[in-house]
Amino acid sequence: MSHITLRKPSFILISSLLLIAAFSAISLISYYVANSSLNQHIKTNTLPLTSDTIYSEVQRDLLQPVLVSSLMAHDTFVHDWIEDGELHSGQMQRYLTSIQTRYNAFTAFFVSEKTAVYYHSSGIIKQVSESDPADKWYFTSRKTPTEFDINLDQDTADSSTTTLFVNHKVNDAQGRFLGIIGVGLASQRIKELIEVYQNRYGRQVYFIDRQGNVTLQGSQFSGTDTIQKVAGLRDIAPLILSTPSGSYSYSNGDRKYLIKTRFVPELDWYLIVEHAQHSESQITATLWANLAISLVVILIVLLLQHFTLGGYQRRLEFMANTDPLTGTASRHAFESTYVQILSFADRHQNPVSTILVDIDHFKVFNDTHGHLLGDKVLTLVATILTDSLRKSDTICRWGGDEFFIVLPNCNQENARLVAEKMRLQIEESLLMVDDLRLGVTASFGIAEYIGQESPTELFNRTDKALYRAKSKSRNQVEGSSSNTPKTA
Ligand code: GH3
Ligand code: MG
Repeated sequence: MSHITLRKPSFILISSLLLIAAFSAISLISYYVANSSLNQHIKTNTLPLTSDTIYSEVQRDLLQPVLVSSLMAHDTFVHDWIEDGELHSGQMQRYLTSIQTRYNAFTAFFVSEKTAVYYHSSGIIKQVSESDPADKWYFTSRKTPTEFDINLDQDTADSSTTTLFVNHKVNDAQGRFLGIIGVGLASQRIKELIEVYQNRYGRQVYFIDRQGNVTLQGSQFSGTDTIQKVAGLRDIAPLILSTPSGSYSYSNGDRKYLIKTRFVPELDWYLIVEHAQHSESQITATLWANLAISLVVILIVLLLQHFTLGGYQRRLEFMANTDPLTGTASRHAFESTYVQILSFADRHQNPVSTILVDIDHFKVFNDTHGHLLGDKVLTLVATILTDSLRKSDTICRWGGDEFFIVLPNCNQENARLVAEKMRLQIEESLLMVDDLRLGVTASFGIAEYIGQESPTELFNRTDKALYRAKSKSRNQVEGSSSNTPKTA
């Protein structure tokens, strides 16, 4: 019999909606905040750091060949040998070989302006010619205003390797141009450097020349041969190629990239370090994972809430529906059951009887024996009454020392038998309690439902019957006089 119910389902629904909304908002906000601060960190710290490290390693790697080339360009042997008319090519070859071995260079060379002969540590190679594209570097290099330039080229002697050549001008004491001398460095070292950064941090590292052509890249390079061909990057290419150092971001397809650029004057190239941000699909995947975790947490919370609230609710319902002293139904809980039983009887033409019980002279009893014993008597009476009932019967504490009982499927005669049994039992059992002579008795009014009468009318008739029982010296059962039972 649960008549007082808290609106638990709607409470759980509201709290779950609130939890879902809060969790979603928190995961969304925290994800985007974390993402943007991570990107900011990459842009302002990590990328520049990678760029600086690569830059200084490249510089360190280039420093020695530049120094060696400068040393060669100012070597008196070289000057004397040229001025003597380049007589013994073997001498030059030995010189170049010793330089190559001493400095562990990949190659060493000299090209004479006067004879156009290309001397190599392995012997005379060829004569350079302006019409040969492979010799273009010489004619470009001799025109540069700087003392030396660095050129990435395929080695004339070994076409399978890409070599970084340091081309240093040789001038005599009068400043006349005598040729170009220098060493070659296998670009493998720099490539390895690029690979390390690429593999360790998943970043793309490459070099571009002043025109935007990719000049050096790692093996996993996924870009095109010029930055102008990359969507998104194309738009910022003029900015990159006109600024010595900068940080940019661009989008290509659904991916966003952060890049750090830096001009390397020694190479006349730009070093580019590129970081691909997470794609939209990765973002949503992480988000879904977050939300799924949130959902599991919400479910657990809701289950806990359900069980905790369920327990509280049951206790509250019990408290609201039960009389705490006697354990019988409260009047409030009883009323709807009473109405239901009567309407059921109306539909099925079943007899229903009612009994109203009131303890005799209970006020005096309380005054004589005290309220505590009074309470005990009330409980004992309730137990006697309840024990005499069937499962389908309902008893409630109507108030004070009164109990109201409804007996479905029971006519007044049977109700009288039940009441008589109860009366007798009370009289006998409560004659002595705790070795005290109490002599508690109760009076009973009974009535049978006559149909088409209201629950209150039926109660009033039962009450009148009780009144008569009270009037007639109490401790007796009285039936309703105005009863015209359908099932006599
Ligand atoms: P009557 O025979 O006419 O019924 O006399 P009565 O003294 O029983 O009169 P009435 O039914 O009007 O009085 C009810 C008394 O029941 C009054 C009050 O002292 C007592 N009572 C009501 N509720 C409680 C309770 O919870 N505990 C105790 N100990 N007494 C109660
Ligand atoms: Mg009484």
